[in-house]
Amino acid sequence: MFNAKAFSAASPSSPLASTTIARRDPTENDVQIEILFCGVCHSDLHQVRDEWKSVMPTVYPCVPGHEIVGRVTKVGSAVSKFKAGDIAAVGCMVDSDGTCPECRRNLEQFCHNCTLTYNFPDKHTGGVTYGGYSDSVVVDQRFVLRVPPNLDLAGAAPLLCAGITTYSPLHHWGVTKGKKVGIVGLGGLGHMGVKFAHALGAHVVLFTTSPNKKDDALRLGADEVVVSRDANEVAKHAGSFDFILDAVSADHDVNSYIALLRVDGNLTLVGAPEKPFPVSAFNLIMGRRSLSGSAIGGIAETQEMLDFCGAHNITADVEVIPIQKINEAYERLLKADVKYRFSIDMASLKNS
Ligand SMILES: [Zn+2]
Ligand SMILES: [Zn+2]
Repeated sequence: MFNAKAFSAASPSSPLASTTIARRDPTENDVQIEILFCGVCHSDLHQVRDEWKSVMPTVYPCVPGHEIVGRVTKVGSAVSKFKAGDIAAVGCMVDSDGTCPECRRNLEQFCHNCTLTYNFPDKHTGGVTYGGYSDSVVVDQRFVLRVPPNLDLAGAAPLLCAGITTYSPLHHWGVTKGKKVGIVGLGGLGHMGVKFAHALGAHVVLFTTSPNKKDDALRLGADEVVVSRDANEVAKHAGSFDFILDAVSADHDVNSYIALLRVDGNLTLVGAPEKPFPVSAFNLIMGRRSLSGSAIGGIAETQEMLDFCGAHNITADVEVIPIQKINEAYERLLKADVKYRFSIDMASLKNS
């Protein structure tokens, strides 16, 4: 074991603060990474504050962070994919059994023995996993990704969660040139959805509650922007979408969007409103429409997404912060006051 610097929360109500954690020495299949940037995902805030207590109670101290980009410093003897000096990335998962039906379909995110990057039982240390708000991480090579050299690293970090969460459903539901795609919400997820749908050649319509996001949406790749509070403007698009990606976590009326799908159209949820919501059966029946959800993506698909980003020069729009500003960043996240993702410059951890 070796000591790593990190920022952790000691309880649901404590601010994140500087600490030291123990990481395992790399085993033969491991890659040790010096973390350069870590994106700030809303899940980090939920878990730090134990807001998902009913499904995954937080174990303290909690070191969040699952949008990790860094430089390889050491590799185990059996590692062939990486060498010291390579730029590498780690997302929301660090292990899975590799043998179940889901793993065999490259859907590790649905493996029942999948190990998440933080706040999850760590089979190596016997404690819990610690995430990317740290100067280093040690991960099995199967869960380490290659980062195309042309990508800005601060903006590449959020691709590991926000990126794959939006890329995977667009890909799964066959979004290509000529398709009409709706993106609901222009936050950390939605702004990536707009970029990907545009790069895939679709006609992209962004739905937002904030009229002042219009210029940004157009700049990011939307062809049209609809202010969703204007029911008449929304209704003009009835029955016209092949696919809608709903990235809103706040309570909202999903039925008004399902009504915009054409025959066989699909609406996929990637935001997670806390309360269950009613769905109109008629809306689904009349048009053989479907409603589904999606969670990140498998490792192979995550690599495909990163390579796609390399080819199209896509990164997240980020505000780079030092780790010392993380508590302030969480407060701003609650007010959706970020364009469109915070990315922590982990060099700042040296000063803490
Ligand atoms: Zn995330
Ligand atoms: Zn599995």
